[in-house]
Amino acid sequence: MQQENKQCPAQGYLELFKHFATEAIHTGQEPEQWKSMAVVPPIFLTTTFKQHSPGEFAGYEYSRCGNPTRDCLQKAVAALDGAKYCLSYASGLSAVLNVAHLLEAGDHIICNCIVYGGTHKYFTKLGTRMGMKVTFVDCTDLNSLDAAITPDTKLVWIETPTNPNVVVIDIQGCADIVHKHQGVLLAVDNTFMSAYFQRPLSLGADICMYSATKYMNGHSDVLMGLVSVNCDTLYEKLKLLQMDLGAIPSPLECYLCNRGLKTLHLRMRQHFHNALAAAMFLEKDPRVDKILFPGLPSHPQYELTKRQSTGAGGMMAIYIKGNLEHAKIFLRSLKVFALADSLGGYDSLAAHPAIMTHASVPEEERARLKITDNLIRLSIGLEDTVDIIEDLDQALQVAHPDLTNPTKVEDLLQHLKLSC
Ligand SMILES: *Cc1c(COP(=O)(O)O)cnc(C)c1O
Repeated sequence: MQQENKQCPAQGYLELFKHFATEAIHTGQEPEQWKSMAVVPPIFLTTTFKQHSPGEFAGYEYSRCGNPTRDCLQKAVAALDGAKYCLSYASGLSAVLNVAHLLEAGDHIICNCIVYGGTHKYFTKLGTRMGMKVTFVDCTDLNSLDAAITPDTKLVWIETPTNPNVVVIDIQGCADIVHKHQGVLLAVDNTFMSAYFQRPLSLGADICMYSATKYMNGHSDVLMGLVSVNCDTLYEKLKLLQMDLGAIPSPLECYLCNRGLKTLHLRMRQHFHNALAAAMFLEKDPRVDKILFPGLPSHPQYELTKRQSTGAGGMMAIYIKGNLEHAKIFLRSLKVFALADSLGGYDSLAAHPAIMTHASVPEEERARLKITDNLIRLSIGLEDTVDIIEDLDQALQVAHPDLTNPTKVEDLLQHLKLSC
């Protein structure tokens, strides 16, 4: 048994964060804060709060500036990130917008060469229109990050693992380089890992950002962004921007995301388990040219992933054998997976980045970043493991009727059960 444990690819990661589940369930949720002693935080659908006397109010004045339901969520997220503060926004992109507003015209941003399509578009189109200078750098190469920093650089933006092709970047390595220079902030989009698998702030990042639309809420029914920080002055600036830009989430959405967090630990474990099983099935599949999943020893940054994360998440990218037509047939043939944008929900989703999420990235750049026509992004959900694998198997079979995967699903699952 000991012997077998060593072979389990789900082990050897960074130690799990202590008290994670308890904090997810209790931090910021204390019944004593309400007169009614409600165990579940109420949804404060009020835009405004009565004042005792002009300017004299009991903690809240107007819901854009602050709302009790929003505070419950933000306190819980801060605890899960090991952070002092958290702020929430109407979407992941409005979190990007708020962080970008820390900068002024003439400031320089370094962004990893592969990021979420909307982030890429924001920095290249809207950010530059406001006078920001943006350089895209491959941050897996720490020397090129170092070389790209100029006296005007104020922000380095990375995402790890990257959307869509699941490249892993060394957060601590980036932080060490960035902090050699005074006044430069490192922001990490932690969407793919969630707070359960990765804590960028404890690895040296200044800002941890999420599209909570994905794993943090996890139920595909809320659009939201989150930003966690430790620095008091950075928090004060962001808090003012949250109020002044007004891109805040509604109390109902805060309630839903707060509820989603209560099962984050359970969901992430199962996402990882299902993804690992699916990845092991696809790894030797003759119908798949290549698979990128950070939880497979074949992933170029597998060792790094184990060093900086407590698990490998549920996102993977596959290059299906063949061309666009094969990719389309595969995607149309899926039955358990839905062909849809987004990721990180309980439901398994498949996407075609070149046509869907990353269509706004210019074609030559997509080719350089290997976002090719046969690239498919899979968000492995919480359905039964066997159903997920069998669905991938049957859809690949429709795309490639002449090829078969020799792996027996039952044997694979039995192996995982015994060794992990
Ligand atoms: C979806 C996503 C975003 C954008 O978030 P929205 O909630 O859609 O605005 C940003 N970063 C990553 C990695 C994402 O997957």
